[in-house]
Amino acid sequence: MAAPLTATPTDLYGLTLDELRFLMAQWGLNPIHASRVWNRLYLGLASTHDEIHGLPERVRAGLSTHARLGGLSVSSLAESTDGFTRKYLLGLDDGERIEAVLMRFTGRVTACVSSQAGCAMGCVFCATGQMGYRRHLSTAEIVSQVVHVARALALGPEPSRLRNVVFMGMGEPLHNYDAVMKACGILRDPSGLALSAARITVSTVGVVPGIRRMADERSPIHLAVSLHAATQDERAALVPAARKWPLDELMDACRHFCDTLKRRIFFEWTLIEGRNDSELHAHQVGRLICELPVQVNLIPLNPTAGYAGTPTRSEAAKRFQRVLSDDYGIPSTVRQRRGIDIAAGCGQLASPS
Ligand code: SF4
Repeated sequence: MAAPLTATPTDLYGLTLDELRFLMAQWGLNPIHASRVWNRLYLGLASTHDEIHGLPERVRAGLSTHARLGGLSVSSLAESTDGFTRKYLLGLDDGERIEAVLMRFTGRVTACVSSQAGCAMGCVFCATGQMGYRRHLSTAEIVSQVVHVARALALGPEPSRLRNVVFMGMGEPLHNYDAVMKACGILRDPSGLALSAARITVSTVGVVPGIRRMADERSPIHLAVSLHAATQDERAALVPAARKWPLDELMDACRHFCDTLKRRIFFEWTLIEGRNDSELHAHQVGRLICELPVQVNLIPLNPTAGYAGTPTRSEAAKRFQRVLSDDYGIPSTVRQRRGIDIAAGCGQLASPS
């Protein structure tokens, strides 16, 4: 159940409340204090041992010996000129760096977090894919990003509570399934951050075993699938992972998800001018997904150094949307562009070398 006893301090942000109780007992500390510690982590958004106050001295000392809090240091912070987006470059213990983004949309604030340092999927238009895979993030490193953003919001000039989390930062979340799903469970704990499952979205490029596993485990977390093309050849040219998990297998897995969970899937489509944004493409995707309960998010391409494509113009995006709605009854939105001036948009996150 819990992490084994080791000489290395255990990161408290990687533990469930039950694991925290169990480990405190293993450390010789009365587990009756676990709830207090948990409160300070998720209601107090503690970042240091000193912020876990109200504990007997012996318990504080024991925690200092056996436990640590988050392993993130802020290397830099960038704010978009419109003030809607803030991007954090965060350093990890081993020198890897990741990015997390706080985005303000009309009526909501969202944390976009990373699940890996780098990414193995190699999507051609994505800055993370262009840097290659470094390693999976631990549950603690994932939860710590969310806590970091929640703390920034709580301490801001207009304090507010974080309610939405998307796994659309660096990495493929379903390639790091166990750590990501455990993090989701911690974030949802009603005695902690208490995020609703309906406000957590995992975005995958199409890792078929992960989609099937979410369905079979009856995961309450929302799923977004990055499609980008509706034929196998066109998709494999944009998303190399499609060679491993071909389009027909992906669609079978999506059907399994919808049928099993009786829930819709979000499909994401990066609109690249002249590449996948014609009315023909809209008809292709419409035919492919019209039998499923879906919502399509259209994302005009964001520029990256390693890809020469350009974003679709707004007229073409509207035509695409019209085909989806009028001919196939598929609802869609065009993603509000946020943080492009600080390279915090979709597909732009990467750690500088
Ligand atoms: S789009 Fe997502 S899955 Fe594809 S390379 Fe980028 S981070 Fe990885």
